[in-house]
Amino acid sequence: MLVDKDEELPVFHKGKEVKAVEAVVKDGFAVTEVELKHCKELANNKDWLDKLKNGFYDTKGKTSHLFIKIENPNETIFAIKQFLRQNPFKLIRSNWHEPVDDPQIAIYNQHGTEKAKSNTFGMGRGRFHSGLDIFSIEGSKVYACLDAEVFETQEWVRNTGDSGYGHSITLKVKVPQEFKNRRRNYEKAFKTDLDKKASFDKDSNIFLLRYNHLEDILVKKGEKVKAGDVIGKTGISGIIKYGTHDPHLHFNIYSTAKKQKFLVNPAYYVYWKEIGDLTIEDKKIQKDRKDEGYKTNNNPKISVKDPKRVKIR
Ligand SMILES: [Zn+2]
Repeated sequence: MLVDKDEELPVFHKGKEVKAVEAVVKDGFAVTEVELKHCKELANNKDWLDKLKNGFYDTKGKTSHLFIKIENPNETIFAIKQFLRQNPFKLIRSNWHEPVDDPQIAIYNQHGTEKAKSNTFGMGRGRFHSGLDIFSIEGSKVYACLDAEVFETQEWVRNTGDSGYGHSITLKVKVPQEFKNRRRNYEKAFKTDLDKKASFDKDSNIFLLRYNHLEDILVKKGEKVKAGDVIGKTGISGIIKYGTHDPHLHFNIYSTAKKQKFLVNPAYYVYWKEIGDLTIEDKKIQKDRKDEGYKTNNNPKISVKDPKRVKIR
């Protein structure tokens, strides 16, 4: 915490007043876009600067809560950016956009059993699960998390018994440092949610984001996308012949360094609702969908044709 709790003043993020803005701190700090409605004593307040600096040293490389003092109604976001540039801190903006709106853990498994731990990264299924299953009603928007290039798209052709990833899109992150800056502290949701294999080599400079089980693909290989661009629609493609009670985005992160491939736990990057964070309404939506029973997705679409896409059967 950078200032005392009573010193909190209104900060707006995406039009909503927030108490704190999460920022990933790394050789300076990242701050999500905030509008400063009021602003005071930034540049000349030694005390504030010291607190800021100490906050940095305490939280270097980790996620911290950045509280911004604001009083003067005429300041804008540019003022604080300018202030940060002129001081011993480097401002690195985090352009991250969550892969789906309001990401939350999928509570149920495909057979309708309540088993959230099987949907985190790790051994919750008794075998390794390589990604995070984020609940998503079919047809919801899928977003590019960062500026990226479309590395690959996979077309799934329905086949009996297939339990693969279905239609998928893989993005290659444009600025690796932006990805690294996004990492936050993460308390494991379950014991089976692994740390092992959840990270990457310090020299890693290739990061791939993979979106699976899609219903529609809206980008093609080689295309440049911006954080927040809609690249596809969620679905249940690739999920076994009986279908599923559990529509979700299976989200993977890969990193490659020195020709080695690493699997990264997406929980460090997606700020998702764990089981304890879900509201009664969130749970109801998931339960209602579960109660609708098995659904299948026989003919997922590809709205943007890509002659180079990889076909899987
Ligand atoms: Zn999964």
